[in-house]
Amino acid sequence: MKIPKSESKTVEFKSTFNQDVIVSLVAFANADGGNVYVGVRDDGKVVGVQLAAETIIRGLRENARLSIYLGVEDYILGQEDIRRYATAVRNLYAGLLLLYKSHLAFLSKDQDCCIVRNNLDWEVADDGSIKFKGLKPDCKTVDVAGILDALKKFKICVDRSALDRVGRYRNQTEHYFDPNGLRGEVVRTHVVDLLKLVCDFTTHMMRIELGQLFFNQARDVLIRDEQVVEKERVERRETLGKLEWYEPFVKDIFFNITCPQCTSEFLFPEVQSGAAANAHFVCRTCSTVETYENLMSYYTDDIFIGEYEAHIWTVGKETFVLNGGTLWECPECATIAFNTIHGICLVCGHKGRCVRCDGQITGEDMPAYVNGRLCNYCYHMSSKED
Ligand SMILES: [Zn+2]
Ligand SMILES: [Zn+2]
Ligand SMILES: [Zn+2]
Repeated sequence: MKIPKSESKTVEFKSTFNQDVIVSLVAFANADGGNVYVGVRDDGKVVGVQLAAETIIRGLRENARLSIYLGVEDYILGQEDIRRYATAVRNLYAGLLLLYKSHLAFLSKDQDCCIVRNNLDWEVADDGSIKFKGLKPDCKTVDVAGILDALKKFKICVDRSALDRVGRYRNQTEHYFDPNGLRGEVVRTHVVDLLKLVCDFTTHMMRIELGQLFFNQARDVLIRDEQVVEKERVERRETLGKLEWYEPFVKDIFFNITCPQCTSEFLFPEVQSGAAANAHFVCRTCSTVETYENLMSYYTDDIFIGEYEAHIWTVGKETFVLNGGTLWECPECATIAFNTIHGICLVCGHKGRCVRCDGQITGEDMPAYVNGRLCNYCYHMSSKED
């Protein structure tokens, strides 16, 4: 495209797309016609177009709506053709993230929606305004971690454990086609989780009812399936509650474990009471039977290996912070399942205590503890005495 050197009777330059552009176009239409060049300064210098905040927000919201619509449709059609189940969760997950992004864009609309961009350091001040610490945004937009981080800065709560469950399932099914993970019962739990996240966010944060966003179909599916999933979850929680656990928080971690075969969360113990660590668990979806030890090791492998970020688990109303980086190889059972924040092995229940001072073993004590079952302090004290 050749851009004229200067403005004239039929040429207008506008540096950004705004109401002025429309006014000029209307004026040209009423006169002899003409062209408006957007992204060109009055002196003819091309500066490119910065999309107006409203356009960005509308675009994100529209894409969110489309993804969610397609996800629900895939889910409904999956009953006939399970291949559609594979895209149902993916579309709904993408839609949810776009919804979060659109809201973040809305919250920073006065700053060109810049908080949805990558590599930008900012914080929310007490008066709710956004303060920038460094301006180095790149053209990519924020990823999942960036979105969650931004929501946290605005003190916006989302159900992290539901989001983690779905995220894990999505990663699992993205890399290989596994018909086991595409069972209707499994997909249903994730669809319900995702739709609940969408529903919570739109009503509480965006203050828009699902129906207003044309999510009628999504709302109907949620109403139909939520009860089924919740009933099984309550039953599972009650059944697990009757067993004996090393620590209450271990039970809550176990609640996040899914079937290694089909990824269903509905693993029920074969016994009604006794130690959870001695129990076998049956998957209600695919009938696989697994030991406690196997399930816990699958889980810790899956979650923690190579990860050094803190994981936040929200179970009921309590929040646990499990630091992934401090999951050590257990000196007792050799599984990488020794949690140094709670000082207990999730697999064998070994409680790390210093043999000299009986103090709880934390991350920094581990090298000394693996060597001689001492805490870091006692290890140094005893080596001085020698
Ligand atoms: Zn299963
Ligand atoms: Zn152990
Ligand atoms: Zn000690």
